[in-house]
Amino acid sequence: VGDSADFDREVQSVCPYCGVGCQLSFKIKGEKIVSVDGAGGPANENRLCVKGRFGFDYISHDHRLKTPLIRREGMPKGLNVDPANPLETFREATWEEALDFAANGMKGRGRQIAGFGSAKCSNEEAYLFQKLIRQGFGHNNVDHCTRLCHASSVTALIENVGSGAVTATFNEIENADVAIVIGANPVENHPVAATYFKQFAKRGGKLIVMDPRGHALKRHAAHMLQFRPGADVSMLNAIMHVIVEEGLADRQYIEGMTENWPAMVEHLKGFAPEKMAEMCGIDAETLRAIARDFAGAKAGMIFWGMGVSQHIHGTDNSRCLISLALMCGHIGRPGTGLHPLRGQNNVQGASDAGLVPMFLPDYQDVMDDGVRSAFTDVWKSPDFSAEKGLTVTEILDGVHAGDIQGMYILGENPAMSDPDVEHARQALAKLDHLVVQDIFLTETANFADVILPASAWAEKTGTVTNTNRQVQMGRPAVASPGQAREDWWITTELARRMGLGWDYTHPSQVFAEMKENMRSLDNITWDRLERENAVTYPVHGPDQAGEAVVFGDGFPRAEGRAKFTPAAVIAPNEVPDAEYPMILTTGRQLEHWHTGSMTRRTTVLDQVEPEANCSLHPSTLRKLGTVAGGMVRLTTRRGSVELMARADRAVAPDMVFLPFAFVEAAANVLTNPALDPYGKIPEFKFSACKVEAVEVV
Ligand code: SF4
Repeated sequence: VGDSADFDREVQSVCPYCGVGCQLSFKIKGEKIVSVDGAGGPANENRLCVKGRFGFDYISHDHRLKTPLIRREGMPKGLNVDPANPLETFREATWEEALDFAANGMKGRGRQIAGFGSAKCSNEEAYLFQKLIRQGFGHNNVDHCTRLCHASSVTALIENVGSGAVTATFNEIENADVAIVIGANPVENHPVAATYFKQFAKRGGKLIVMDPRGHALKRHAAHMLQFRPGADVSMLNAIMHVIVEEGLADRQYIEGMTENWPAMVEHLKGFAPEKMAEMCGIDAETLRAIARDFAGAKAGMIFWGMGVSQHIHGTDNSRCLISLALMCGHIGRPGTGLHPLRGQNNVQGASDAGLVPMFLPDYQDVMDDGVRSAFTDVWKSPDFSAEKGLTVTEILDGVHAGDIQGMYILGENPAMSDPDVEHARQALAKLDHLVVQDIFLTETANFADVILPASAWAEKTGTVTNTNRQVQMGRPAVASPGQAREDWWITTELARRMGLGWDYTHPSQVFAEMKENMRSLDNITWDRLERENAVTYPVHGPDQAGEAVVFGDGFPRAEGRAKFTPAAVIAPNEVPDAEYPMILTTGRQLEHWHTGSMTRRTTVLDQVEPEANCSLHPSTLRKLGTVAGGMVRLTTRRGSVELMARADRAVAPDMVFLPFAFVEAAANVLTNPALDPYGKIPEFKFSACKVEAVEVV
């Protein structure tokens, strides 16, 4: 890592990692980024975490893909390619040859082809990807990793408040009295947002942390509720029961702004805290205290993460959080709101841009004839399917069923990220035509027929949208290595070869096209973003600031009212038993990000956290006959991995926490593919598991 004084130019852009969307300044000497500093973005005000500050040198790693590659005749597909030496399996090709090969293998195949786009790419690239699938193949079988993180949250938000984005920026916490953080570990996963949460607690705000795993924010919390895994709905219903029973609900707000309150009141009758305490592992008095604190606050916010969303009852969990905020009137004013903390730097923007199977850009329904024709008018193309498309895991099931035979995968790594990953890998191996577009030869690229080398974030131009609804300008700091090209260019070249008549020569043209059918981008122009770097949507004038808090004067639903949707208690899909007595939960660590393809190739981050590990309570380690640093074997009904154990008192004695960035002990070998029926998100947060010491010491 270079000396920050030793540079000859700087470029302001956005961090490539989490959904906080910190603005940063790349310091460049010659053609190399030598250091990174925080810049004055609206979400970070010059702050950066360890990933943003030190996680940049992956872009010059030896493993970067620099030339298009085509699989050699007869080479078997499997996790068998050395990323440092791919030429035994693949041969180098020119762009012309590789693009022709990729496009010819997909052209005219309709429903046989499906696509996974990426939340790591720009808004313009996400928009082009979904357009290619819809215009080029006539269907909606296109999705991305939102299906693995917050799809259930978005489903519940659209259903009950009419919009899938946050109702308030996380920075609004400075105007709150009380804030609940549930199923999220922001100190590790959204570290800069966590600094605002800590400041809030320091100035006297009441922070309520709820999580089956203890974590660093606990030190700043007025209440820490370490509840039983999977007991979210019973705990939240018990809290809401108290609010109704003790007359703490905001009746005026409920009458003026919501619907279905009587059904909610009736539903909550069965959830007295005294009855729920054992199920959720939290005593009734604490549940009553939380209800009084949250309902009694002048302004309260709720933040949540994948601990809420990644369950078969993820949509129900979010429905409860929405109902809790609504009954207290904690939406639409400064310091109030609902905020699912988004994971990737552009998962909000990619979803907004229509990279999902049920919605066109701006969450417009694919089943609506008028909506589709508004898009096909702009695209100058015939109508496409009015059927909702398949989601990430459904697409891979479709491959196994023989319905889908080819895929275009841009920047996603399902061979690592999907639940029951052996099932995903077998599906990828079955495809007769797999086009992978990425910056590294990922685990997924091991199965490719053709690999298209892409530019990294620090090498490209484009906009991204963070968890706060802030659309931000990303700028290139350095040139791409070898022949690597920007994703929008590659997708455009494929579309041209498929006869779609695309002629984009710059992402600004794509952004202008997006604005034609995306009212969320009204009053946001490319030039404005060039000038201001970030604009929050919605924004009501070309010179006005965007709205940090929305829905003060009604919701984008029928009659402007939000809805209460009661949620019943549903057990996890797989419960511990004599053979698999422990609970496995998966997640991220501070230094690594997602499937590790970038951060494990970053010098500082990999040195800090180089080895696959899992966390167990010290008493569990003792019981197993091992110690911290010893090797353990984790086994579920899907498979087994062996890795180093750490001692961590934050993990309950019957739990094991497993980070998912390490291919050598891939968490998703173990995870359960059971889906939430509404958001179609897998139950990554709960599998029944057996833990054994590999060597008893
Ligand atoms: Fe990047 Fe997120 Fe860290 Fe900010 S908090 S520097 S966006 S990883």
